[in-house]
Amino acid sequence: MKNLQETFVELLRRAATDLPHDVEDALTRAQNEERRGTAAHSALSIILQNAVAAREASAPLCQDTGTHTWSVYLPDGAKTEPILKAIRAATVVATRKSYLRPNQMDSLSGKNSGDNLGVGHPGVHFVPWNRSGMHVDVLLKGGGCENCSMQYSLPEQRLGAGRDLAGVRACLLDAVHRSQGRGCAPGVLGVAIGGDRTTGYATAKEQFFRPIQDVNPDPRLGALENDVLSCANRLGIGPMGFGGRTTLLAVKIAGLHRLPASFFVTVGYMCWACRRASVALEGRNVRFSQNALAGRPRRPAV
Ligand code: SF4
Repeated sequence: MKNLQETFVELLRRAATDLPHDVEDALTRAQNEERRGTAAHSALSIILQNAVAAREASAPLCQDTGTHTWSVYLPDGAKTEPILKAIRAATVVATRKSYLRPNQMDSLSGKNSGDNLGVGHPGVHFVPWNRSGMHVDVLLKGGGCENCSMQYSLPEQRLGAGRDLAGVRACLLDAVHRSQGRGCAPGVLGVAIGGDRTTGYATAKEQFFRPIQDVNPDPRLGALENDVLSCANRLGIGPMGFGGRTTLLAVKIAGLHRLPASFFVTVGYMCWACRRASVALEGRNVRFSQNALAGRPRRPAV
């Protein structure tokens, strides 16, 4: 089990210090869109220089190394307890090696646990599948952007948003507007339409595993993603809220079934430090990746 623990330490190192190349490429494209000498251009230059420096030094991309969400895909009937133990032990080691900042506090006393373990953290979800190997994803999400995530219940009078895609669109643009100057733009929106309050947030967060260039298999949602992305980038909020042409790098939307009585639109906001990493384990083979969808099915299934 030591090997599994070591693999998870390496997974955390990669997630915390190696910005996924698709995100870095999107930031480079954004920089090319901005005029030289503007605050937007220099903010993106600093972000990109920081990404290179973090990768070279195996140092955290940002001082806030975030909340950790793990998804473990494993054969039906496999034992989960040893995996959980390895994840927790790896979290302690990765903190000791300074890949992660000690980042978990007791909500009542304010005391930091010192090792990133805590009640409810790290969050680990097990997903049974009918393959032989194991696939593991981890997402690190900082507090500044998590504070910008929000949920709407349609109809929403303030926005004049009804229970249709036009109403969803109004919510998403409102969320972008309300997040301006916070959450370290340019960011990614992960969205769930439908579900309940719990599944909405979980599904919205799951969207951050989709690479920037991933095309939604549902053409209606794909069209909405493109529409909201281009509209948000015309708002002029820009990198770090300094003004400019890139407020969002991507919009990723999933649809869930819902009750007739409810219509939730859940918006997860992820900052430019969209930290994710995956690993596939099959026998002695260990393969790390920055693209979760290359190794496991899309969730939720469509
Ligand atoms: S929002 Fe993201 S980039 Fe900004 S401080 Fe938090 S983790 Fe770091």
